[in-house]
Amino acid sequence: MKYISTRGQAPELSLEEAMLTGLARDGGLYLPAEIPVLSRDEIAALAGLPYEEIAFRVMWPYVSGSFAGDEFKEIIARAYAGFGHDARAPLKQLNENHFLLELFHGPTLAFKDFAMQLIGQLFQVALKRRGKRVTIVGATSGDTGSAAIEAFRGLDAVDVFILFPHGRVSEVQRRQMTTPADSNVHALAVDGDFDDCQAAVKDMFNDFDFRDRVKLAGVNSINFARVLAQVVYYFSAATSLGAPHRKVSFTVPTGNFGDIFAGYIAKRMGLPIDRLVVATNQNDILHRCLSGQGYFKGDTIPSISPSMDIQVSSNFERALYYAYGEDGRAVAQLMDELKQGGFHVSQGAMEVLRENFDSGRVSEEETLATIKSTLEHSAELVCPHTAVGIKVAEDTRAADVPMVTLATAHPAKFPAAVEQASGVHPPLPSRMSDLYERPERVTRIANDLGAIEDHIKRHIAE
Ligand SMILES: *Cc1c(COP(=O)(O)O)cnc(C)c1O
Repeated sequence: MKYISTRGQAPELSLEEAMLTGLARDGGLYLPAEIPVLSRDEIAALAGLPYEEIAFRVMWPYVSGSFAGDEFKEIIARAYAGFGHDARAPLKQLNENHFLLELFHGPTLAFKDFAMQLIGQLFQVALKRRGKRVTIVGATSGDTGSAAIEAFRGLDAVDVFILFPHGRVSEVQRRQMTTPADSNVHALAVDGDFDDCQAAVKDMFNDFDFRDRVKLAGVNSINFARVLAQVVYYFSAATSLGAPHRKVSFTVPTGNFGDIFAGYIAKRMGLPIDRLVVATNQNDILHRCLSGQGYFKGDTIPSISPSMDIQVSSNFERALYYAYGEDGRAVAQLMDELKQGGFHVSQGAMEVLRENFDSGRVSEEETLATIKSTLEHSAELVCPHTAVGIKVAEDTRAADVPMVTLATAHPAKFPAAVEQASGVHPPLPSRMSDLYERPERVTRIANDLGAIEDHIKRHIAE
């Protein structure tokens, strides 16, 4: 399988190369040159299999050129061994035909673990084979940083440095980043805000001397290997509910469009998905776009579902690529217009998007009310992101098609909002109940590129 850029001007790569590269050289995002299709019988055979086996069968066509079969099986086994639930992605029923897909049983209690844990193991094997090591640098406003740290901790081919804004992440989020004791993990509390952290990372990638010297690599949500890992749970959930013999719909709390785009790939692979519903909070650029109002940047408004507080959704570029008939030139043009503020989607492309996606927007008040009503009606305490999904799902779902809402984080990751809404303080799972006692290890650092680069150079293993 070869991987091509959404903007059509970058060299084709293998999965391994695309994964290690991240962003394509023409500024585009990598996609498989063709999306493999599973037959109805192959899909039917997935029902009831262990999650790891489903993962192998769904991802194998994408990775077979880069990894051997047994090797890939071991990678998957190691990736999900640290999850706190045997089903990995269990389904729970909310009412007669609405289900929650719990994606928060990984080490950092959010769905990003599904992709990050796999990518950590893939990196380790790929780098060992090449006799290389890399330095992973990332900026986080909370969740992605801890997921990256948990994925790469203890792996000897990688050093991982995570920049977060000092004093501006929740205590659970900070402790998840500062308590891993492994020597290859480095948490940096930057005197600045999230945008400063992100700008510092971008500047490091543009500082070619530094980039080469420390062998910089990134694992942000545009990495196709991350999207691929998320395709798996659409298959496990849908086949548990009767696919391919009946259709299933999904509602996805959405920020960067990575998670729901994985659902779109699952559909293209032959999984009979009826609707894919984009659920946004008050940062609703995607809902506006899918409602026909064009794709125009606004200001980011902080919300109680902070992992969805985005201005532009980087992975939406991939959906546009297919909506525009795989025309890389058209996508490159749209992305140029986006730099000037935004663009209108052509009528033909809008029709393709509407064939696949619905959308809804949820206010802060509605999010709180949904946390409360879900506890009252279904005895489930849900995180604010999940509540955004549940609300949109209830507003849009058809009575005769099972609806699955993705529960993207554990309520204990967002205790303040959950308690405000429901009066109940969500406890941490017992396997991490000592999080508040573990010693922290963090370097506070000035918002200064030179100081940050210097720190990284001095702390990588050579
Ligand atoms: C990252 C995240 C999202 C948004 O997912 P995207 O793939 O960026 O659309 C939703 N909920 C939680 C809890 C997250 O951490």
